[in-house]
Amino acid sequence: MTTAESILKKHHLRVTQFRLDVISIFTSAGRALASHDIEEKLHDADRITLYRTLKSFEDKGIIHKAIDGTLTQKFALCEAQCNEHHHHDEHVHFHCLKCENTFCMDHVYVPKVVLPSGFTAEQTNMIVNGVCESCS
Ligand SMILES: [Zn+2]
Ligand SMILES: [Zn+2]
Ligand SMILES: [Zn+2]
Repeated sequence: MTTAESILKKHHLRVTQFRLDVISIFTSAGRALASHDIEEKLHDADRITLYRTLKSFEDKGIIHKAIDGTLTQKFALCEAQCNEHHHHDEHVHFHCLKCENTFCMDHVYVPKVVLPSGFTAEQTNMIVNGVCESCS
């Protein structure tokens, strides 16, 4: 079984060639991808199908939004413990100012933020802007 196939099975999604292709694009990219990045790599990109696929992957805990402070919505593969009910991607996202790529800093966690009473955090995002490994 390929990595893409085992990811789909683990998250209880039916294995289709389209889904396999999209996951493979993510696993080989090594960075966060916007939907147009994925469209470019697919041979017969149907925008609606891709949109639905990304949405269901996000719902199932396969991908998460890699918030990088730009206007482009990007997604990246989740950490292994994400599932349908909860995402655990509390890591830092790094945005390169030169190549504009966004990377998950998988082992760099967002520090706990102490909020005033009455405020409850649901999600905390942290973006670091700078120069990535390949641009420096
Ligand atoms: Zn996740
Ligand atoms: Zn870069
Ligand atoms: Zn991430």
